[in-house]
Amino acid sequence: MTPDTQKDEFLRVRKIESGIVIDHIPQGNSLRVARILGLDESNQATVSLLMNVPSSSTGLKDIIKIEGRELSERELERIALVAPSATLNVIRGYVVAQKFKAKLPEVVEDVVPCPNPTCISNKEGRPRLHIREHSPLKLQCDYCEKVYSEDEFSF
Ligand SMILES: [Zn+2]
Repeated sequence: MTPDTQKDEFLRVRKIESGIVIDHIPQGNSLRVARILGLDESNQATVSLLMNVPSSSTGLKDIIKIEGRELSERELERIALVAPSATLNVIRGYVVAQKFKAKLPEVVEDVVPCPNPTCISNKEGRPRLHIREHSPLKLQCDYCEKVYSEDEFSF
């Protein structure tokens, strides 16, 4: 794939003036990312969701474009949980002002509930999980000490 076709792919939906483009989301995970960001609810932002976009490196990928909104640290951590390969582009004045990779800290605190319904962290305290393995992602709960894979978490 030439740089020109990659550029076309990035611009497949009209340019946005300001907002976020979340690129390189694993194929099929864009709906989860949208749910994490509350984009399916009472949200005024214009959202473009592109699924199964050809990618030079991973076959097919998903992309989300969100107009007029930036992301909090907590939202970035939640995105990193379901889309560790995602690249985030901050758009200001129609150009990419900032570009960075989603990054999950070694300790994931108060970001996502423990999947174990009887875990004490779901009743009191704040959920705390440690990364045990990066690829595929596995997280261990500090309270019930069980190890979970990414698809066991619900948002
Ligand atoms: Zn737990």
